[in-house]
Amino acid sequence: MPCSPGALALATLLAVRAPPALAAPDAAALAAAVDEEELRMTVEELTGVLPVDGAVGEVRLLSRDVHDPRVADAAEYVRGRFRDLGLDVSSHGFSCQGIDGLENVVAEVPGAGEGPPILLSAHYDSIGSLTEGGWDPLVDPAPGADDDASGVALLVEVARVLGDAPLAAPVRLVAFSCEEYGLAGSTAYAADLAGRGEDLAGMVSFDPVGYNAWDASGEAPWLWASHDDRSAELAARWAELAAAGIPGYAPVAVHEDLIGGDARSDHHPFQERGYAAIHGGGFPQPPAYHTTSDTVDVVDFAYLAAFTRSAVLLAADLAGLVEPAADEAPDEAPGAGCACRSGPGAGAPPGLFSWLAGLAAVAAASGRRRWAAPRVRPGPPAGLPSSRPPEPARTRPPGSPRSRRSRWPGRTRSRSPRGR
Ligand SMILES: [Zn+2]
Repeated sequence: MPCSPGALALATLLAVRAPPALAAPDAAALAAAVDEEELRMTVEELTGVLPVDGAVGEVRLLSRDVHDPRVADAAEYVRGRFRDLGLDVSSHGFSCQGIDGLENVVAEVPGAGEGPPILLSAHYDSIGSLTEGGWDPLVDPAPGADDDASGVALLVEVARVLGDAPLAAPVRLVAFSCEEYGLAGSTAYAADLAGRGEDLAGMVSFDPVGYNAWDASGEAPWLWASHDDRSAELAARWAELAAAGIPGYAPVAVHEDLIGGDARSDHHPFQERGYAAIHGGGFPQPPAYHTTSDTVDVVDFAYLAAFTRSAVLLAADLAGLVEPAADEAPDEAPGAGCACRSGPGAGAPPGLFSWLAGLAAVAAASGRRRWAAPRVRPGPPAGLPSSRPPEPARTRPPGSPRSRRSRWPGRTRSRSPRGR
């Protein structure tokens, strides 16, 4: 949406479209807007439970292994989700396993000012190599619901929640590919980033973030992140924000030396290039890890929502939210949620005028962003326990590009290895 009207007219337009859930641009309100059902739908789409629009038509993403042609459909799906949210999306190409034309999908929520982005990542490829009885990457399923459809769903939800937040610096969201074969996508991306001399405010790989190993223990579930020396401060800040803003969970930052090192996810190539990069993920892994049994039922969506809120809090903190003008700052006490953001006005919900002014400033800077409402779900309202709503409960909003889908089962795809 091009931005030509004046700030007041734009603010009026945005006021009409702005949802009540985002009526104040403080980080706690943004985190509260994270929607479990959004996360569930994305994981279901990434695992073939629900069909998606792929590169050449509708498909069920029963595998996202890089040897399976459906990995290209998965890339197209992730790209489409970011585009539908109004973000700039680009493709970072690389080769892996002798396969050319693989891609990392890169989206950016712009900031109003300058400043290095914070980079949040997950990987959209999957694998089923630990399946008992053997597994063929060319044809067999690799749903990868926890690993790492959960992380990709987190990225898309962060994009939706932060899409119109008045950020000062950008938030970059990268869905890597070929993580499962030697971190190839992130290695290529980190090398290119360092080669260009680009700085980052910090990097977090969310992988995987859906399995709640503490579900039956009665203890507060751990939200776990590992770090090296350079990223200790980043991990501590993440844990501090999560502890203050996500009741009922126990964020834990662990130095990777205490767990025998952690080169197991896409943060590692960034650490090797000198970036502050941490690994956020559920630990221990589920029994279904890297098998065909890593399906949607492995994922605890309340747990995934908690991790997603931690990502929103960290992104808002590092990117910074545009502060209201001094004469418009409210005098209410800080909100009861996350009061950990530093700077003037931290934790306090600014007034409506300031919020609109902030929105207008950001929209003027980006010129193309738009608010994205949660997708329509006639089932239980958001925030209720993550029990599965009755089928066929979920539909897209009328007019949505993906509302055209039919209900026929996944088609048969070519079984030859990709060579593009
Ligand atoms: Zn993974």
